[in-house]
Formats: sequence, C-alpha cells, structure tokens
Amino acid sequence: LRRDPHEAEFIQSIQEVVHSLEPVLVKNTQYVQILERLLEPERCFIFRVPWIDDRGEAHVNRGFRVQFSQALGPCRGGLRFHPSMSLSVAKFLAFEHTLKNSLSLYKLGGAAGGSDFDPKGKSDNEIMRFCQSFMDELYRYLGPDQDFPAEDIGVGPREMGYLFGQYRRLSGHFQGNFTGPKIFWSGSSFRTEATGYGLVFFARLLLAEMNKELKGLRCVISGSGKIAMHVLEKLLPCGAIPVTVSDSQGYLLDEDGFDYMKYSLLRDIKAQQKNLKEYLKSYPHAKYMDDAKPWSEQCDVAFPCASHNEIDQGDAVAIIKSGCRVLIECSNMPCTVQAVDILRKAKVLVAPAKATAAGGVALGELELNPKFNLMQLSVEDFENKIQAKPAADCCHWAYLFPFIYFFSPNFDVF
Ligand code: NDP
Repeated sequence: LRRDPHEAEFIQSIQEVVHSLEPVLVKNTQYVQILERLLEPERCFIFRVPWIDDRGEAHVNRGFRVQFSQALGPCRGGLRFHPSMSLSVAKFLAFEHTLKNSLSLYKLGGAAGGSDFDPKGKSDNEIMRFCQSFMDELYRYLGPDQDFPAEDIGVGPREMGYLFGQYRRLSGHFQGNFTGPKIFWSGSSFRTEATGYGLVFFARLLLAEMNKELKGLRCVISGSGKIAMHVLEKLLPCGAIPVTVSDSQGYLLDEDGFDYMKYSLLRDIKAQQKNLKEYLKSYPHAKYMDDAKPWSEQCDVAFPCASHNEIDQGDAVAIIKSGCRVLIECSNMPCTVQAVDILRKAKVLVAPAKATAAGGVALGELELNPKFNLMQLSVEDFENKIQAKPAADCCHWAYLFPFIYFFSPNFDVF
C-alpha cells in the first residue's frame, strides 16, 4: 500500500481480501509472508497505442497488461477497453482473476489488461485499427504457456476477432488460446455464455443450500452487456422473474418481468447499439429511469453485472429496503467496502465474484484440456459440464466465501 497509495481500486481489492482473511492470518502467522508475495504482481506492462481515426487524425491511448501470478500456471484474464481503465484497475482485475482462476483444477494464473480507449461511437475500421495497434505491442507477452486474454468490458467478439487476427499475423502461429467466442480461437464455442450462465448455476446451488429455488424469485440485474444478458437469458428457464437491466444512462424496469420475447427484443436493441429506451416502444408499460440505478426496486436476488463499485453505501441501504436477501456478485468488486459492511450487517447473503465466476473459470479449464473436445459438445453437454464443475470442484469455495463474509453458519436468509 505504501508503494502505490494512489491506486485506489487495487488497494480496495487487497484490503477486501486481507480483511476477510484476518481471522485465518491471526491464527496462522506464517501466511502473512505468503500474502506479501501474493499481493505484488509479477510484472506489469504499460505501452503506447497510436491509431488513426476515419478522418485520418492520429490518437494515442495507453495500453496495460498485468501478469499478476503464474505460480499455478499460465495467466488468463480479461481485456477491458473503457475510458476509466488505468494501471490500478488492471492490477485489481488481475488480482481478482488470480484468486478466481486458482479454483480451476487445470491451474491457471491470473492477468488482466486493456486500454483507456473508448470503443463507443467508433466505426468498425477504427476499432480494427486500434486493436491491431494494441496487439502490435501486446503480442510479445502472450502465448499458450504464458498468458492468454479474454473478454471484459468493451471487448466482445468483434474486438477479440481483430486482436486474434493481428496476434496470429505477428506471431506466425495459430496457438494463442484466446478465450473468445469463436470456436477456432479458443476451442470452445460457448465462452461468452459460460460466465453468465455459470453465475445463475451458482445462484441456484446457493439457494438449494437454503432449500430455495430461483423459481418465482424477483431478480434485479444491472448492466446490459455480455454478462448481464446471459444471466438474464439463463434466469428465464429457471422460472425466475428478472425485472430490470441497466446501462450507464439509467435503468429499464418491466414490472411484469422479462420473458423470452422481451429478452429477444433487448438483444436486438443491444446488437444495434440502440438505447434501452427503445424497449418502451414495444412495451409502453415499462419504465426507463434516467441517471438512476436499479437497486431500490423490490427484489429477492440482486445480480450486479455492470462494473466495479457500482453499489455504494446508499445503494446498499436501498438494496436492503427493497427486500433483497441474496446478492450474487457478477461484476468484479461491484460493492464498495462500506456497502459490503452494510449488507453484511443486514444479513444479506453476498456471494463474492471470486467464487461466483466458477462457470467461466471451469470453461477456461475445459478449453485447455485436450481430453475435452468442446467443438463437439452440444449445448446440453456444455451446460452439464459447467454445472458439474462448480458443484464438484468449487463448492468448498462457494461455501467458504459466504462464511468469510459473515463468520456465521446461518444460510437461512429468507
Ligand atoms: P460489457 O462491456 O459487455 O457490458 C458492460 C455493461 O455495464 C454495459 O451495459 C454498460 O453500459 C454497463 N456499465 C459499464 N460501466 C458502467 C458504469 N460505470 N455504470 C453503469 N453501467 C455501466 O461488459 P461485460 O458484460 O463483459 O462485463 C461486465 C462486468 O462483468 C465487468 O465488471 C467485468 O469485469 C465482469 N466480468 C466479465 C467477464 C467476461 O468474461 N466478460 C468475466 C467475469 C467478470 P453502457 O453500454 O451504457 O456502457
């Protein structure tokens, strides 16, 4: 902390973990030294990313990649393109990925990176030129036994395609294990779905411990990106009632809940990069709240799927008042430290992102395991594997983390 006092996000993520582990560290002082090693990234790269827009004007953005730990295996972690991206955010995400990936039986290290480039409003050609320039520098640090990138905010199938194309051209080989949605890049055709679906499977497992099911529960979702939309999609067959999605401008509320038709419309709206308000043209009974978050809407389960620190103290109070009993962290570090304290005191069960992302982590493992040929898996086979993975491998974590948060064996929050 003394070394990087200005890295607010990274410090927050460290403090959250160290605070959670305090009881363990007090009893087992030998772990303190291990923590010291764990908290310093192995290496960080910062690089210039020059690119030319469609008018021929030159721009310069900053690129980051933090290879936090290769202690367990090659690094894996997301790339984020967002104006708020900084070294601090890259370090916090890479630290989170290190802990998440440690759940994988395949043994993966953790990394993260990205750029302060804003893909919003850019043409396909501008995105392509930016991605190619970004990869011109990054490719030398990537490789199958070294580090392989995945999606995060602002990086989806289009960006991964451009990035992988340039990586392949520069490295002269096809192996990079880019965890993108195209089967030939990663071995898996379900990468984009895996994390979102896995989050719902995790919620289902957690509720089953309380003899509850998602069926009939009102769910509030934030975000409307890759994670949020796949969470929404998978909640539907579980019989849950998702009532909100959001974006950086506000949130959409449909009191009747989204069904498959409405979900399909939302997907079209997002695919065409239109505003969520478009939904009101087809369903005028719905509401769009400008400059607001969905946390005061009545719900049983909350799924924050937008960004870090999207739930602050005031939001935590709103969540408690809304009747919410379970919060499944989907985005990385969605709650501020104060928000977690408030939720914990009110006995809202917070399932930490480090454990809930087991589905995505499990797929990462399956992708790398030659025993599994995911190209031949049906959707049902894939879902069975993802469901079995958290259940078989990760349940001890799934249970451990809520205990760490609450120091209480009481799961009965309903
Ligand atoms: P996307 O870029 O696909 O979507 C992000 C969504 O969140 C958009 O709807 C965006 O709205 C909204 N959003 C972003 N920042 C803010 C903000 N500050 N306030 C309100 N809304 C915001 O990202 P993903 O769905 O891939 O990722 C979402 C979260 O899930 C991130 O925290 C990411 O780290 C985490 N995650 C992602 C994984 C992945 O494999 N994709 C894996 C594990 C975790 P708008 O469109 O208006 O910007």
